This record gives sequence, C-alpha cells and structure tokens, in this order.
Amino acid sequence: MGQLFSSSKDERHQDLASSFAEYFKKFKVGSKIIPQETIASIELSLSQGNIQGTNSSITNALKEIDSTPLNVAVTGESGAGKSSFINALRGIGHEDEGAAEIGVVETTMRRHPYTHPKIPNVVFWDLPGIGTTNFPPKDYLEKMKFNEYDFFIIVSATRFKKNDIDLAKAISVMKKDFYFVRTKVDSDLKNEKEFKPRTFDRETVLHQIRSSCERTFQENNVEQPPIFLISNKTLSEYDFQILMDKVVNALPVHKRHNFMLSLPNITDAAIERKRQFLKQRIWLEAFATDLLNMIPSLTLLMGNDVENLRKNMNHYRTVFGVDDASLQSLAEDWQVSVDQLKAKMKSPHVFETTKKETIQEKLSRLCEEFCLANGHFIAKNAYVKELFYLKFCFLDMVTDDANALLREICVKNNLVSD
Ligand code: GDP
Ligand code: MG
Repeated sequence: MGQLFSSSKDERHQDLASSFAEYFKKFKVGSKIIPQETIASIELSLSQGNIQGTNSSITNALKEIDSTPLNVAVTGESGAGKSSFINALRGIGHEDEGAAEIGVVETTMRRHPYTHPKIPNVVFWDLPGIGTTNFPPKDYLEKMKFNEYDFFIIVSATRFKKNDIDLAKAISVMKKDFYFVRTKVDSDLKNEKEFKPRTFDRETVLHQIRSSCERTFQENNVEQPPIFLISNKTLSEYDFQILMDKVVNALPVHKRHNFMLSLPNITDAAIERKRQFLKQRIWLEAFATDLLNMIPSLTLLMGNDVENLRKNMNHYRTVFGVDDASLQSLAEDWQVSVDQLKAKMKSPHVFETTKKETIQEKLSRLCEEFCLANGHFIAKNAYVKELFYLKFCFLDMVTDDANALLREICVKNNLVSD
C-alpha cells in the first residue's frame, strides 16, 4: 500500500491515536465540541486498529451535535425586556419579520416559542412573568413545562423581587440552571449622567446597580448568584459576553456547538470562539473521512464536492452573519448597495469564476495559496486533504469578513451616537 504504510500497522494505529488525542489538547475544556470520554474512547479504538468503529464513533458524535435541540426559557415581569432580549439573542431587529413584539403588555398566560432564524435547533421560550400568572413557583414551573428547558434566564429591569428568588429556588430544586439578568443598564447610565453630569462615573453606577440587586438576595437569606448587567440595545457592552461564556461552559458538551453557533457576532472574541468550534468540526469530519480513504487517488475535485463546498461556505457565511440575506438587510439599513458591501469581502466571491479558470481550478489554487501561507504541507493528489484545507480556508475568509463587518458596524454606530 505504498510508503505511507512502511511502518508497522500497529505503529501506524498508535500514531493515529496519539495525533487524535494531541489535536484536542489544544482546546480548553470549555471549548471542546466532543466530550473527553468520547475523545478517550476514540483514541482507544484507534490504537486497537478499529478503523471502521472509530469512523462511526466520530460520525455519530457529529450527528448527535447536529440533532440536539436546545431550549432556553426567558422569564420576568412584563416590561422587563424579555422580548427584546430574545430578539437580540436571535440577531433579529425589532422590526424584522418574526421578531418578538416588544413593548406589549402581557395578557396571555401562555409561553411562546421563538426559533433561532439560522440555527433552528435553538429555541427561546418567552414565558409570562410569574407575577402575572399568580401561580406559586412550583405550579408555575409545571404549567410552563420546566422539564423541556435546558436553562432559565430570569430577567428584570429593576431590583429582583422575592418572586424571582422563590422562582430560582424552585428551579434549583428541579435541578436546572438559571441566570439572573438585569436589563436596561444603558438607561440607568444615561439617566445618571443627565442628572449628575459633574460627579457621574460609569463604573460607580454599574457597581451601584449590582449592589442594589444583590441586596434582595441578602434580605431573603439566599446565597448570592452572579448577576449579569446588560443592555438589549448594545450587547457588545457590559456583561452579555460574560453571560454567554458562562452558559456555553455550563452546557453539556453536545449542546454547546449549536448554541455557540447561534450567538450574535458582536465582538471579535465571539467570532473567534465560533471559529474554534467550527475548526474542530472540520477537523473531525476530515479525520473520519481520511480513515476510510487512506489511499489518495483522485486529483481533481468532483462536481459533487464543489456543491458540498458551496454548501459549507454558505453555512459559514450564515453563522457569521455575512450571508446574502444579512448583507442585503444591512445594505438597506445603511442605504448602500449590497454590491458595495460585498466588494469589501472575499467570501461572497469564491464561487464566482472567470473564463480563464474553472471552479475546480480556482478552488485548487485557493487551497494551494492557503497551504503555502499557513505552512501546511500538502501532498500532490491528497484529495481528502484538499477538501479539508479548503474548508479551513473558507472559515478564515468568512471570519475575516465578519471581523471587517464588525469594525464597519462600530464605525457607523459611533458616527450615529456622536
Ligand atoms: P417584555 O415585556 O419583558 O417582553 O419587555 P420588552 O422587550 O417588550 O421591553 C419593554 C420595553 O423596554 C420596550 O419599550 C423596550 O424597547 C425597552 N427595553 C428593553 N430592553 C431594553 C434595554 O436593555 N435598554 C433600553 N434602553 N430599553 C430596553
Ligand atoms: Mg414581551
């Protein structure tokens, strides 16, 4: 089977096993997309030479990641900012189609689901405030089908009330996680600044909001949970990112991937975390395919591969908010043409070709350039590797575009608020 297999078969399996384990050592515990047990069991079956078994373990792990639903309950009194928070998490403008209506006084006693527009396995549930329903916490949770949620977010625009604390206690008894979110801190800051322009200090005001929230817990003799201060108007400021990191870390591993991909691309750190998740995914897919295709044979990408690559590219663009629909809507908001926006990016143009170059030739060239620039050695004819590196190349392009767009958004917002 050629020089690839000049070492003994056992050594080759051992090498595969250690390169597998080695790869995942690069990622911190909270950033791995498959559980440590799965990594260990794959390592074991590789070292035993069980190629077929390893391939199906990886494929199954990926399938589980894709098909796992995630349900988030958002509760709090009417006016607290639940609907705005849900829209923000779904990356949907308040006036967009399918947006949760904001500023409406709750009249129904029913929960309402809002599916994430890009990651349909992620669903946010808008729950009526416990105060509106007048149910005791246990009945409230039962009526709201507490068992269906992965975690709860308890929202308030003021101090938390005894109601909220009793609810959190009941959620704890049901062995579910909850997070306290204090919304509208932008308004508090704005008010303070207007009323006390000379003594205003942003950090002091934020500290006061936090202590005032904490007092309710002390008064009720409850251990202090963390409280996340946010503004639904500007997620990139205050504690939103800290909250999301906490949530991602607390989720079971197979639930993380979808939730992570669903998060808004509000900071370069958020974009980078998403990239790390997708990188592992691409690597795992390639590793599994590689196991079954150890003999490199084909030289050119097939039509089918090009179609799949196009789908991959579209998926990445959607996840990072630089897909055609997102660009179209931004272009409308900014009153520029969508072509002007696209002109500053690379990812929308990858599948455009000229007469000089077929799409296969263009992709091969991109792959070669990417490998050269990143110091990857790519053996001629290594067909699977080419697909693998192209996906990495696409991911890098898309994250570059997302970062460029983020900078543009920051510039525009500063211009507007000046
Ligand atoms: P819900 O009744 O809990 O769903 O609350 P909504 O999301 O409908 O929000 C109630 C009102 O508060 C609306 O007028 C929102 O525009 C406003 N609002 C919500 N969140 C924020 C925020 O973080 N900052 C500011 N300034 N206003 C907010
Ligand atoms: Mg609402």
